[in-house]
Amino acid sequence: MPTGGPNDFPHIFADIEYVFLDRDGVINLKSPEGKYIGHWDHFHFLPGVEEAIAALNRSGRTVIVVTNQRGVALGYYTKADVDAIHEALQKHLAQHAARIDAFYFCPHDKNECNCRKPKTGLFEEAFQDFPGASATNSIVIGDSLSDIQAARNLGAPSIFIQGDPDTQKPGEEQARSLAGAVSASLVEAVKLLLR
Ligand SMILES: [Mg+2]
Ligand SMILES: [Zn+2]
Repeated sequence: MPTGGPNDFPHIFADIEYVFLDRDGVINLKSPEGKYIGHWDHFHFLPGVEEAIAALNRSGRTVIVVTNQRGVALGYYTKADVDAIHEALQKHLAQHAARIDAFYFCPHDKNECNCRKPKTGLFEEAFQDFPGASATNSIVIGDSLSDIQAARNLGAPSIFIQGDPDTQKPGEEQARSLAGAVSASLVEAVKLLLR
């Protein structure tokens, strides 16, 4: 089973047709630990993300967001709030000729479902909705160890977004070593992918 290790990465990324993006810390500024993004007012784009997504769209790739939203389970916001954020996100992207093809989120708490990353339920749901998608033509781009572990569990390659060195999270070293590549931002990851 392909595992997306560092050495096989350059060979497989030419075959990538489906790009799975984590949301918080990849598309938008991650909130501080213990804080959650439950409203569009708290959603702040990282620089250049709109154009990076537009470039993926133009390249013919399908762009899918997969995000853990445990704040729903904790009662900080509702599933409808998450949907509203994704609607606003889509409207904003449309102004930049960019779009997300589908959103999947896990509203559950830890250890109570099969979809919270590093589990693969969200990806499997996407594979049902996009029958052409599989672990071999997909890539996962995320800023958490759980994103990279989900990719490994799926058998798909991954790019770890390192982000701001001042706010490194636990598991960063492990994520770096498990990922097929490490990039500073989504903008850089897309450059690598479309090179
Ligand atoms: Mg994240
Ligand atoms: Zn879940």
